[in-house]
Amino acid sequence: MSLNLVPFVSVDNMMKLVLHLGVGRVLTDLAAEIEADFRRWPDFDKTPRVASHSDVGVIELMPTSDGELYGFKYVNGHPKNMKEGLQTVTAFGLLADVATGYPVLLSEMTILTALRTAAMSALAAKHLAPKGAQVMALIGNGAHAEFQALAFQAICGISEVRLYDTDATATAKCLRNLRDAGLKLTPCKTPEEAILGAQIITTCTADKQYATILTDNMVGAGVHINAVGGDCPGKTELHRDILLRSEIFVEYPPQTRIEGEIQQLAPDHPVTELWQVMTGAAPGRTEAGQITLFDSVGFAIEDFSALRYIHAQLQGTGFFQNLDMIADPDEPRDLYGMLLRAKAS
Ligand code: NAD
Repeated sequence: MSLNLVPFVSVDNMMKLVLHLGVGRVLTDLAAEIEADFRRWPDFDKTPRVASHSDVGVIELMPTSDGELYGFKYVNGHPKNMKEGLQTVTAFGLLADVATGYPVLLSEMTILTALRTAAMSALAAKHLAPKGAQVMALIGNGAHAEFQALAFQAICGISEVRLYDTDATATAKCLRNLRDAGLKLTPCKTPEEAILGAQIITTCTADKQYATILTDNMVGAGVHINAVGGDCPGKTELHRDILLRSEIFVEYPPQTRIEGEIQQLAPDHPVTELWQVMTGAAPGRTEAGQITLFDSVGFAIEDFSALRYIHAQLQGTGFFQNLDMIADPDEPRDLYGMLLRAKAS
């Protein structure tokens, strides 16, 4: 392949690729890719994402590199979009060769973000949730919800999902989309009903405020909380008292302290980095009665792992287009001459 032609995965081709591989397999593979990259955490350049905030949302760039490949994702978060018929979260990303600086992949990442976020959630729960957990409460039944349910089924063996959303049409949509997934689905009228008997509680709501999706009295001993929706300054889902009772696990502390549930706590409140749990350097769940909390915000390495996975899976498929993205004059310094020749032809 010519170096100036960059494979581009459109939304249409991403859907074809994911359906070709199977959603369960993609989620399981992504979790394995992310875990492999988290286990070599020191190899990566790391920085909190670069965020541009407005009153209605945020636009972020998420870069990282392992010295061989460089990747970034562009992603937005606009909770009010849904009411206007738009996605809350959209994204695209790029992977480049560090040796030349040339891009090697450009991809849609709206679907890929939902897949990688769900894979990351289930991967964290694999290390932290009570062994043998079967029941998950899923509060917030929007665009990411089905991906979360399917990842916990494929990676953690969840067999029942108890669904709650302030908007009953979102829950109805999940019930419809998941009806053939082999999960027991229980629609609930209140968040209290949703968490009944759940060993795992996932919050995946979108609201640009300090929300209280779970209050302290709702959370019993021994559960694992997967808090996905609080991922931005001023946007949280859990009452502070829950955090004070929990063992808190995070992706990259400098980013999570700004964006995660722990923005409600003192800047030196103890947290454990998940990569250390994965390498065995730090313990995960140590007691049955412990409340473990994955304060998920989404970190650049997860997107890097996802882009690298998609790049590898594309080989031998037709699920991409080649983009003429890099100017490539025959003589590298004759960039202007190339322009003149285009005018003449
Ligand atoms: P979405 O807008 O499609 O769905 C959010 C759902 O939450 C809606 O159905 C809404 O009715 C519901 N909701 C709002 N307030 C609620 C409440 N108090 N109780 C119950 N339900 C409530 O959003 P999405 O695309 O599914 O994303 C969900 C969240 O995940 C967003 O906040 C997004 O920013 C975040 N996110 C996190 C990561 C990460 O890595 N942690 C990655 C991507 C997105």
